[in-house]
Amino acid sequence: MGRYVPHDSLESPRFSGVRTFMRLPNARDLPNSDAVVVGIPFDTGASFRAGARFGPEGIRSASHLLRPYNPLQGIGIFDHISVTDFGDIPIVPGYIEESYEAIRRELEVIHRAGVVPIALGGDHSIALPELRAAAAIHGPLAIVQFDSHADTWDSYFGKRYNHGTVFRRAVEEGVLSPQQSVQVGMRGSLYGASDLEESRRLGFEVMSTQTVRRLGPEETVARIRERVGESKVFVSFDVDFVDPAYAPGTGTPEVGGFTSAEALELLGGLSGIDLIGGDVVEVYPQYDGPAQITSLLAATVAFELLSLLASVKKANVEQSGGTEDGLDH
Ligand code: MN
Ligand code: MN
Repeated sequence: MGRYVPHDSLESPRFSGVRTFMRLPNARDLPNSDAVVVGIPFDTGASFRAGARFGPEGIRSASHLLRPYNPLQGIGIFDHISVTDFGDIPIVPGYIEESYEAIRRELEVIHRAGVVPIALGGDHSIALPELRAAAAIHGPLAIVQFDSHADTWDSYFGKRYNHGTVFRRAVEEGVLSPQQSVQVGMRGSLYGASDLEESRRLGFEVMSTQTVRRLGPEETVARIRERVGESKVFVSFDVDFVDPAYAPGTGTPEVGGFTSAEALELLGGLSGIDLIGGDVVEVYPQYDGPAQITSLLAATVAFELLSLLASVKKANVEQSGGTEDGLDH
């Protein structure tokens, strides 16, 4: 069978049809998919605002603006990979551990099939079951986390599972390899002077917003690439990495951040990494305003992640001298 591709927006208008990601078919056909976009409408892990449960809906809606060719990465995504919108994972609002189990279970099936899930959050607490599922198949992962927060605090309100503690839990559980992982974009007020040191003590490389500004995009990308090397990589993109002027629809905004253009430049620079999963999280459409700019940013981040996958697939096929008629898993 052929690839799953989006509806052709030169044939039918982009404002028409059911709001799947990028107008892709809503299907659960893992044997015929290279990647799936999956919604995780969970926001019980948020510490301040509520409403990321509407993130997947907002991102899908804004994604109808996206066209299939990515000039930044020079790739026609669906010429190389078959992608569906997998729909949403049935989380349990108000119950984080039950939701974690549902997320892990569904994503593990996807990974086991050799398919790459790109998740639309949801608050950042979903990263832990995402990593549990990925690590169950791939082993401990390198993560590249774009975020204004390290999310390595120990607990909130006496509770261990939360969007501010996920990456500490992930280290404790051994589902990521901190020595191959990097946290990019940290800034803003902290609870104490040692907060970011804690992250480094856990083994992460931490590149603050200030550091990234000083190094510039090329050197930043080079450091990230060096850090992850040949490892299997999970990219987690918290939209608060971007300045609230460009991404107001988020849960814990921090001023003094990056432009959306800078974010796309950094993501595009990761071409060739062995991406086995990713997410874009912390979109709160009700704080976004009528222009939907945060949802559009998040949709474009997911588009860049799919582009990275397509580039790797294209390079692999060229290297082996083969054709792209079949799926490679
Ligand atoms: Mn975060
Ligand atoms: Mn954050």
